[in-house]
Amino acid sequence: MTAADARADRLAAALAARGLDALVVTDLVNVRYLTGYTGSNGLAVVGPDVRRFATDFRYVTQAEQEVRGFAREIGETDLLASVPAALPAGATRVGFEDHHLSVRMHARLRELLGERVALEPAGGIVEELRAVKDAEEIARIRAAAALADAALERVLEGGLVGRTEREVALALEHEMQRLGARRPSFDTIVAHAGHGALPHAQPRDVPIARGSLVVIDWGAELDGYCSDCTRTYAAGAVDDAARAIHALVLRAQRAGLDAVRAGVAAADADRAARDVIAAAGHGEAFGHALGHGVGLEVHEGPRLSRASRATLAVGNVVTVEPGVYLPGRLGVRIEDLVAVGDDGAEVLSSLPKELTVID
Ligand code: ZN
Ligand code: ZN
Repeated sequence: MTAADARADRLAAALAARGLDALVVTDLVNVRYLTGYTGSNGLAVVGPDVRRFATDFRYVTQAEQEVRGFAREIGETDLLASVPAALPAGATRVGFEDHHLSVRMHARLRELLGERVALEPAGGIVEELRAVKDAEEIARIRAAAALADAALERVLEGGLVGRTEREVALALEHEMQRLGARRPSFDTIVAHAGHGALPHAQPRDVPIARGSLVVIDWGAELDGYCSDCTRTYAAGAVDDAARAIHALVLRAQRAGLDAVRAGVAAADADRAARDVIAAAGHGEAFGHALGHGVGLEVHEGPRLSRASRATLAVGNVVTVEPGVYLPGRLGVRIEDLVAVGDDGAEVLSSLPKELTVID
């Protein structure tokens, strides 16, 4: 049995548990997860008794090469038209991805299926499966993380002081692609001094000043899977106050890592790191969640936040990324990518986390 078969089987079981005869999968990331198809027009119908994939004529060859475990159908560009024939005979309850299908597309599907089929919102059901990775997926994420680390090591050889944030970001993105990445898994962040206090800072044409902290948040997409990591460096020697904030975030990050294991509530992992920062009087300066799942998308489930109701499970791949942001002065974030295993967690990020001075 291939990984794709196993995924469709898990989905079929989840659908059966909800009393659904089939799910119409329109989110292309979910289509890829289930079928292997990487093109830009595709749709899958999955149920206990059905595995159908549809695309249009532009993707015939690609679908032949990529799609496994599904009956393939070449239809109109409007793929919804292929849904009625794909459904198992007598299907009465059919799920659709309500977080993805537009209101217009929903109306079209409603019209195509007619009165006897009830359309049920079932968004998120594939995403729940995707939160638990198989060994092949974890291997791909591990490879993406290793590639991204190698790229940053190479870029840092050129130093930080005096290069602009944008130069460093572009060099890093170029290096990742040179090493085989399809693309950066998100817009690279390089932000120094006060600009680093913006968690989603955009790199500027501003030279990195000696004596500042530099936040670098970057990731690679390789074989469809993403990586995500952050390190904060000293551009030349920094003052004691900056060192103290870095040391605090590192302690919080390690506390978060220690808390990440199967069976732990994601909210408790968040709290483990947050308590360290709050105890030092900087609770207000850590305004975002501790982490998020990473896989085919750079942000997916489970979320590690105060409000999260998720429980960590073997196969989750999550980030642990506390930060302290002091507006106008500095920002520090330290982020590792972690795979939850049977005994503890495997950290997939390899670069040192202690404050490193780069001239
Ligand atoms: Zn990140
Ligand atoms: Zn992240």
